[in-house]
Amino acid sequence: MGRYIGPVCRLCRREGIKLMLKGARCETAKCAMERQWRNRPPGMHAWRKRKGGDYEVRLREKQKVKRYYGVLERQFTLYFRMAERTKANTGEALLQLLERRLDNVVYKLGFAPSHRAARACIAHGHIHVNGRRVNRPSLLVQQGDKVTVKASDRSRNFIRQALGEGGPAVQAWLQLDAQHLEGTVAALPTREDVQIPVEEQLIIEMCSR
Ligand code: SF4
Repeated sequence: MGRYIGPVCRLCRREGIKLMLKGARCETAKCAMERQWRNRPPGMHAWRKRKGGDYEVRLREKQKVKRYYGVLERQFTLYFRMAERTKANTGEALLQLLERRLDNVVYKLGFAPSHRAARACIAHGHIHVNGRRVNRPSLLVQQGDKVTVKASDRSRNFIRQALGEGGPAVQAWLQLDAQHLEGTVAALPTREDVQIPVEEQLIIEMCSR
């Protein structure tokens, strides 16, 4: 499983928006995007004005989505091909596939403070889906799936701590039973459930080249 292991605030600075990659820290004044002297693209030539041509605008849109969901190029291309094969609008289908990833569901249920932490949590076996242990953050959940926590004190304390820190409010397509540490996929996510501003048409134009 390939993954980005470099500094993540740099990714927010490059895309110019808060991608919420560091959990609780993203809500504090320590966030690089909240500091005037750091809220600029990374690199020593950041002060130079970029032309921002058609290609760059589309590329930035795609990179923003990839970085928010923690998906690398190859997997993103696979999602795009899957979305193309559906009868629905390709852009919306693409975003729905990304939203349905198990690591995104674990993050949005509040079981982990960030997508990255959610991936680690799944890889370490703390999460079960429909009663079965899974270790694949890319698993696509289906309507009615139950996401639970492994019945061990270590796992449950870990998840309770994350829930206690508070995160984004649980969205309508998910149901959370915080007492039993159980989440249910009540419906499939829609375009409105995507929490970052995205112009999916630009991504489609980029990927269709
Ligand atoms: Fe992005 Fe969070 Fe870093 Fe802020 S603290 S720049 S939102 S990863």
